[in-house]
Amino acid sequence: MKKILVTGAMGQIGSELVSTLREQYGTSNVIGSDLWQKDTEEGPFEIVDVTDEKAIYEAAKKHNVDTIMHLAALLSAKAEAAPRLAWDLNMGGLMNALEVARELDLQFFTPSSIGAFGPTTPKRSTPQDTVMRPTTMYGVNKVAGELLCDYYYYRYGVDTRGVRYPGLISYVTPPGGGTTDYAVEIYYEAVKNKQYTSYIAAGTYMDMMYMPDALNAIIKLMEANPERLVHRNAYNISAISAAPEDFANEIRKHIPEFELTYDVDPVRQQIAESWPDHIDSSAAEEEWGFVSEYDIDRMTADILAKLRME
Ligand code: NAD
Repeated sequence: MKKILVTGAMGQIGSELVSTLREQYGTSNVIGSDLWQKDTEEGPFEIVDVTDEKAIYEAAKKHNVDTIMHLAALLSAKAEAAPRLAWDLNMGGLMNALEVARELDLQFFTPSSIGAFGPTTPKRSTPQDTVMRPTTMYGVNKVAGELLCDYYYYRYGVDTRGVRYPGLISYVTPPGGGTTDYAVEIYYEAVKNKQYTSYIAAGTYMDMMYMPDALNAIIKLMEANPERLVHRNAYNISAISAAPEDFANEIRKHIPEFELTYDVDPVRQQIAESWPDHIDSSAAEEEWGFVSEYDIDRMTADILAKLRME
């Protein structure tokens, strides 16, 4: 990885990934791209709609990149509200980006999700290789996407790699309409109002991860020795398995008067219940040395300190 094009670079992951990659590989070697651009954006950037294959091709060619990190997508809750749009963007965009990787011989990364699992998947210690029958459009897209990436590897030799991300938690860029977004909102509301109303019910466990661990995982996987990669698309990775009350208990260590109430959203609750409680990351640990540095305790202390400084 020397020169990287990132699609969906203005999103929750992309905005932090681009700066992390620029610190590692140099500003001019990381090209952000999205449908829009922040006024404050520094460094190379292209407006690219991923449903337009030619636009991806031209940006990749112009900057002579050797890697695409394809992040542009519609997330789980938004995809349930607009399934057709989700299919067109999540599958069409991925196919276009893979085609460009094939034509220009680029290394390729795209994230899958715990949303690729479904209600018939084992809920605890969910294995790397297991039943995958998701019941959401987002999940259908993610399973199909994993298979498509494997297909491009076996059929054309494209160096495709991916992870199944859990819900990602960050205090930098607001999340883009996923089912685990509550785990970000709860921190903002704790600092601002000392209370939060959760749309996910008590006792609903899902996998989560702090953004620095998620970004390190991408770099580590992309730099891993290809000979050690058996699974490729896509590796289970997780750091935290938690329910809303676990976040509240951690927050109360810093803000004792914090109150958590519930007003459950049936759509997102149903999605959450169809996902695992805790996935097993051992294939990622064995094949490319995945590690996480942040548990819920350390992450909470870090986020609250950062948000209180703002
Ligand atoms: P996000 O919604 O925050 O950002 C998506 C970005 O894609 C936005 O900036 C949007 O403007 C851009 N986009 C939308 N349509 C586009 C188009 N046609 N062309 C180009 N750009 C377009 O999403 P995110 O949280 O950063 O997620 C990135 C990837 O990671 C997605 O594939 C998502 O499924 C996956 N993922 C995210 C999480 C999470 O918790 N954030 C968890 C698991 C997997």
